[in-house]
Amino acid sequence: MPQRDGPALLVAALRGGSAEKAIRAAVDRLRMETAVAVPPAPLELLGSFRGVTRIEVATMASAGRLVPVPGGGYVVQVNGTDSIGRQRFSAAHEICHTFFDEARRAASEHEDRITGAFDMERREEYLCDVGAAHLLLHPTWLRDLATREQPSLERLFEIATICEASAEATARQLAALGVWACSFVFWEPGYRKGERLQLAHAPLPGLEALAPLPVPKLRATRVYAAEGSPFFPLRKSVAEGTSIAAALRNEGLTHAIERFDVGQKPLVVDCQSQYVGYVNGNGEPVPRVLTVMRWRTEG
Ligand SMILES: [Zn+2]
Repeated sequence: MPQRDGPALLVAALRGGSAEKAIRAAVDRLRMETAVAVPPAPLELLGSFRGVTRIEVATMASAGRLVPVPGGGYVVQVNGTDSIGRQRFSAAHEICHTFFDEARRAASEHEDRITGAFDMERREEYLCDVGAAHLLLHPTWLRDLATREQPSLERLFEIATICEASAEATARQLAALGVWACSFVFWEPGYRKGERLQLAHAPLPGLEALAPLPVPKLRATRVYAAEGSPFFPLRKSVAEGTSIAAALRNEGLTHAIERFDVGQKPLVVDCQSQYVGYVNGNGEPVPRVLTVMRWRTEG
């Protein structure tokens, strides 16, 4: 495989060099070799250039895994209960592990030990996510698809469809690139920390009236904000009267100007919200709302 400089770069990356840059460079070389220029990224083809003979769906607890094949090469397995977008992200993530696998082998040939440390593994997982986003949602594609448009959920979903990626991975990458002056917030019903403790020590039946049990509120579980966006805290809740709560109740789309008490000055935000429920790893449906917060300019 024509990857001579790849291993050395990634060994350096695992030691704490410019790690993100190295994995993106490895992905860009792969894109050049395979002449992939437009979305959606053809993962079978991209994988085949990394020794992946097959990408298959399997029953497993994790999102994906890279299985070395005796005699060389790999099979990539992805979790069959995940959405297609998530399966593709997992497959791209596993393809990125082949770079590290190669780096490790090259390093061990030179008695250069880089494996074993727990944070090295954590770092590799993070870098494979960075590489997967770069492979599936390349910055040149997203800039091309998003720059001429105003931030909106419709356009976010269109871009996700074009790239065959999940809405969440697309939102995260758009925010990381700062293409749009907006934040993407995912909301799920949940409790504050103190309320979770209270629930863990719930009163005996019949005594609830003395200490009423907390009711779950719609809370921010993920915030993907473009650089320069106002800070929006995780776990922040929204009131029942908001358009965000309405999107959950109606399982639909809403649009309104909302005010949030965050910090000293209330944030006034143009919010477009859409119900995006999903099924979690245990097969349970989870209600969820995605909001695009379009920050209003001062004045
Ligand atoms: Zn991994």
